[in-house]
Amino acid sequence: LDVIEAAEPTMHAFLHVSADEALAQADAFDKRLAAGDTDGLPELAGVPIAIKDMIVTKGIPTTAASKILEGWVPPYDATVIEKIKAAGMPILGKTNLDEFAQGSSTEHSAFGNTYNPWNKDCVPGGSGGGSAAAVSSYEAPLALGTDTGGSIRQPASFTGSVGVKPTYGGVSRYGAIAMASSLDQIGPCARTVLDAALLHEVIGGNDRRDSTSIPAPVPPVVAAAREGLKRDLKGVRVGLIKEIGGSGEGFQPGVAKRFNEAVELLKSMGAEVTEVSLPHLSYSLGAYYIIMPSEVSSNLARYDGMRYGLRVMPPDDKPQTAANMMAYTREAGFGDEVKRRIILGTYALSAGYYDAWYGSAQKVRTLVIEDFAKAFEQVDVLASPTAPTTAFHFGEKTDDPLAMYLGDVTTIPANLAGVPAISVPCGVDDSTMPVGFQFFAPQQHDEAMYKPAAALE
Ligand code: GLN
Repeated sequence: LDVIEAAEPTMHAFLHVSADEALAQADAFDKRLAAGDTDGLPELAGVPIAIKDMIVTKGIPTTAASKILEGWVPPYDATVIEKIKAAGMPILGKTNLDEFAQGSSTEHSAFGNTYNPWNKDCVPGGSGGGSAAAVSSYEAPLALGTDTGGSIRQPASFTGSVGVKPTYGGVSRYGAIAMASSLDQIGPCARTVLDAALLHEVIGGNDRRDSTSIPAPVPPVVAAAREGLKRDLKGVRVGLIKEIGGSGEGFQPGVAKRFNEAVELLKSMGAEVTEVSLPHLSYSLGAYYIIMPSEVSSNLARYDGMRYGLRVMPPDDKPQTAANMMAYTREAGFGDEVKRRIILGTYALSAGYYDAWYGSAQKVRTLVIEDFAKAFEQVDVLASPTAPTTAFHFGEKTDDPLAMYLGDVTTIPANLAGVPAISVPCGVDDSTMPVGFQFFAPQQHDEAMYKPAAALE
């Protein structure tokens, strides 16, 4: 808490620091230890954690970095929060993000920017820039994020942290504020691959309150991370994805260079490296930016001024109708990027356009899923740079939404296919900004990527 207090004025990783709650939780944990009540406690017991403000926390304000939820205090905990509390892990507070997790730089937060601890002129990535910055700046040893199209992995890459998007359905989404439900996944942000694995085992597993939760135990990710630390990758088949920078081509030179060096390192540890083509991956960005806004437009319909947070009444000279109240509330409560996506999604789903846009995008999604399945017949894991660039400067892409979207080309395929992926640091570029290396694994085999990721770290 002292580190947070010292760092926050120039970092702004947190939207809310829950100091009193954290101290009370730490106290309760101490008492539990003193009483010898340690049965079932995981290795991370007692380790504090920061939570992306996209995940609901009972009694602690939860805003999704949006004015429309300002002041809302949830009456319940997300399943992952219940698990974290049961593990005796104190909750330090809620971290900043792009409004409703929509963005790649955290500049779309309604409550101000978060800074990159490596260079305060640069963005920390997004949408989970707050969680990544908190971990990278040593304000928190661990954090939770949500990843719909890269929001855990890309900020991890930009801040030299480890970020994991588990298999879709591997971690309960109950209590994760919905962005695009078929893509959303909660996952760990940490300083090491082993820390991420330990957290993954705390939060993962089946949950009957999430209908898309997989009825299977958490894959053995901790054992795999420990195995990886032996740095022996004999027999591990790594496929470099041709379409998203298998050779580093098309990427910022500093990213390509570090990526290729890391590949050599994998080979030196015994990995068998080949190049693999996933021919439909080039279309995933387009498909994502149809499917995601469609789901966003539907999910965000619930913020209507009736149920949660902000309510803005129409001015006195306007009809005082429910429809007007909703319109004024949404006009005042949502930022530009969120409105842009609601409009795009509503258009893509509208009668007459549905088949052309949403229907086509869903077909592309199926092709991407099949590409991954075929690729995993040949290799154990797939690899690419986590992002085409290192952290960019504030303001560089805020006026050009398309330029911002293009940066997601490397992370989105995992969400479309529901496969797990991890970003692990692999050095810095010429301006000493961190570069991320990404592994993808087959569905429900998250352990497969933890081993080479730990070996590389
Ligand atoms: N950057 C992506 C987007 O803007 C991903 C967001 C996310 O994963 N929540 O949609």
